[in-house]
Amino acid sequence: MPDAADADLDLSVPPAAAGPPLAIAVPTTRDEVDVVRSSRARRVSVRVDRMTGAVRITLPQRAPLSEVERALSRHRRWLAARLAEVAVVRAAVDARGDVLSVWGEELTLVREPGRSRVHRKGHALHVPAGDDGAALERWLRARAREHLVPLTEQAAAALGRSVARVSIGDARSRWGSCSAKRTITYSWRLVLAPPWVAEAIVWHEACHLVELNHSDRFWSLLRRHEPRTDESRRWLRAHGATLVVPSAPR
Ligand SMILES: [Zn+2]
Repeated sequence: MPDAADADLDLSVPPAAAGPPLAIAVPTTRDEVDVVRSSRARRVSVRVDRMTGAVRITLPQRAPLSEVERALSRHRRWLAARLAEVAVVRAAVDARGDVLSVWGEELTLVREPGRSRVHRKGHALHVPAGDDGAALERWLRARAREHLVPLTEQAAAALGRSVARVSIGDARSRWGSCSAKRTITYSWRLVLAPPWVAEAIVWHEACHLVELNHSDRFWSLLRRHEPRTDESRRWLRAHGATLVVPSAPR
């Protein structure tokens, strides 16, 4: 069943017109990109990392290396557009500085040397200095679980269904998914979104316990329980890519 993978809730980035983007140069040679050989690849593919702007080109095992430059030239306009989006996201994340919104509460990161765990005290979030984000991510995952598990169980109960398992994943490409085995998985990054947006995703996935598809029946069931469905999708489309933890100062 195609909807076991909930591809409609993809991470996307705001339009490049949202601000004066810092230009990221479009690579033209193999030295400027990551080149990966894959025995499974049937054709050349190009990917852009949404946060770093790093470009990765995957080549089938036997393709000549010159295919890298060919792909860069063929996808030049597409690459320029993706890299402009990366610049917009980066600017938004930089502008936020060390303030992180966690389930709607603004917390200020305080970096402390010698600390190994994250500890919240009021509106300060004490994090290990030099943490590459792993300790903070662990803490945020726990917060995501704390909020999303009971909400999911409540929504399922309201729909007369039960959920087998709620898991908090790291999918970069989906906010949530529901499997035929009634397992609902969320991206931990939802804890960085406003609660009403996260709640709308909870309802979306819970409604898949009734309709494991994107039929008209699914959408009308969802809109009946969650009137902010379209608004939340628009919010995620515009801001989803900025739901990341700030990297340690360089
Ligand atoms: Zn869906």
